[in-house]
Amino acid sequence: ERTTLHPSERAEISLSFEYFPPKNEEMEAQLFQTVADLSAFAPAFQTVTYGAGGSTKARSLTTVRRMIGEMGLSNTAAHLTCVGAPQPEVDAIIEEFVACGVRHFVALRGDPQGGVGSAYQPFPGGYENAAALVKALRARGDFEISVSAYPEKHPESRDAAADIDMLKRKVDNGATRAITQFFFDNDDFERYLDQVRRAGIEVPVVPGILPINNLSQVMKFAGLCGSTVPDAITSRLAHLDDQPEERFREASHIAAEQIVDLVRRGVRDFHIYTMNRSPLVIAVCELLGYVRSPVNAREMAVGSIKTAAGA
Ligand code: FAD
Repeated sequence: ERTTLHPSERAEISLSFEYFPPKNEEMEAQLFQTVADLSAFAPAFQTVTYGAGGSTKARSLTTVRRMIGEMGLSNTAAHLTCVGAPQPEVDAIIEEFVACGVRHFVALRGDPQGGVGSAYQPFPGGYENAAALVKALRARGDFEISVSAYPEKHPESRDAAADIDMLKRKVDNGATRAITQFFFDNDDFERYLDQVRRAGIEVPVVPGILPINNLSQVMKFAGLCGSTVPDAITSRLAHLDDQPEERFREASHIAAEQIVDLVRRGVRDFHIYTMNRSPLVIAVCELLGYVRSPVNAREMAVGSIKTAAGA
């Protein structure tokens, strides 16, 4: 299958990358190396996740502050969840992110405090769900606001219609983009996008692409979040456990083929879950035909500001 995009297709495409806040110094070094490596692909933006219930609050803030303040990546978005916290606490975190220079939030409810699968309870005096958080963010400022979307349905949802209804509430409250949970079957995405458009939701719906560094981990995670790993994917990777180079090559082809097929179906924006590691994402981008610009992250960010200002 084709893994390379035509230059005319590449010219229309925007990439974004997702990172999570590091837990220790070693992970921190790896993260910032990855951010610098991937900045060379000139992403439209990059995002930093936020632990439900504020479990990563300090680390998320430090990470975002460093990416914007030190690396000059002003197009960095902060994820924010609202479970398990009263409104004033969430509002204070919003102000801290704004003080770091954040102009783009990924607004989420977050998993229930008892963990995935336990019953969700709105926190007393808290934002009840992601739609309420979007509303508060929209009232606070002229931010870009991205929200989640689930092509294979969120595990808590009664049905696909309830899920799309929640997306509509988030968009009606001011969300400007939806980013999907990872999926591997592009027919699922296309079917979902059809339903979303029929519901009158017009914001971009950006597929979340997860290059598979570790198949068993991805299968476990997929089970928790309601994504399917099709047999066609497992059968391409499962027998390569003892052949890391071949496995890496196959994983990069799987992701590049998925992106090329989505481009063929008309998609132009892609959000890549990096897992804070660059080699596989670089391999995917290079298969697609991207060339890494030799400038470092800071010059890249300054360049994009200049372009934006000059546009
Ligand atoms: P919502 O959009 O509010 O709800 C999701 C769906 O669940 C709804 O469509 C609705 O159908 C159903 N639902 C919600 N509440 C109920 C209810 N009470 N009863 C029945 N059905 C209900 N998690 C983090 O902790 N940190 C992150 O940084 C983070 N980033 C994410 C980024 C993306 C792009 C995505 C797709 C997910 C991310 N998540 C993150 C995971 C997310 O927090 C969980 O999926 C969470 O369970 C739902 O949050 P949400 O914002 O999608 O919720």
